[in-house]
Amino acid sequence: MTADILLHPGTGQGGGQDHWSPGDQVLWRYRGNATDRVHICRPVTVVRDDAELLAVWMAPGTECVRPVLADGTPIHQEPLETRYLKPRTTSVDRWWGSGVLKLARPGEPWSVWLFWERGWVFKNWYVNLEEPLLRWPGGVDSEDHFLDIHVGPDRAWHWRDEDEFEQAQAAGLMPAATAERVREAGRRAVGVIRDWGHPFDEGWQHWRPNPAWPVPALPVDWDRPAR
Ligand SMILES: [Mg+2]
Repeated sequence: MTADILLHPGTGQGGGQDHWSPGDQVLWRYRGNATDRVHICRPVTVVRDDAELLAVWMAPGTECVRPVLADGTPIHQEPLETRYLKPRTTSVDRWWGSGVLKLARPGEPWSVWLFWERGWVFKNWYVNLEEPLLRWPGGVDSEDHFLDIHVGPDRAWHWRDEDEFEQAQAAGLMPAATAERVREAGRRAVGVIRDWGHPFDEGWQHWRPNPAWPVPALPVDWDRPAR
């Protein structure tokens, strides 16, 4: 059970930071914007965790928590104009389709997700702008910043969800100062893409999960406080 995962004691190098081992199961979570309640929870398997990078795998069929409108309507079926104004709750669903590899460099205000088509045909990278991950014994927490960047296999990139980013500000979910920080982070991420820096240059599109890894379960206390 995720709740029983023990952190490995630091080695004394790298500032005594604790790291998970490949195969450990942790929770990758997002708090709701302008709330401190968790509204996205994805049980994942640790691929790599060190001072440079946290890499995790979300396997097909993983039971995940996602936000829905209070009447059960999926968020993306609600028109953008009212999407951020209606009360929400959470719903548990399985992640269908191919798995997702998530890469986060410590302290960076984005994570990079890799998507494949069936048969491991690499589809795209996806830069999710977000608060730098906060580590806690059961996983990592963040807050999504709405704006994203799509990067194709040919390295061509474009902004994604600029409309959601604008609408979230209009709905009072993101103060202007935060929005400016997010835009600045986005510009830095674009610089990394243009320079083809980490993690894009590391060949992760050729990575494959260990077939012996079980699909992690969603714990009943998935929304427990990080601290
Ligand atoms: Mg996003």
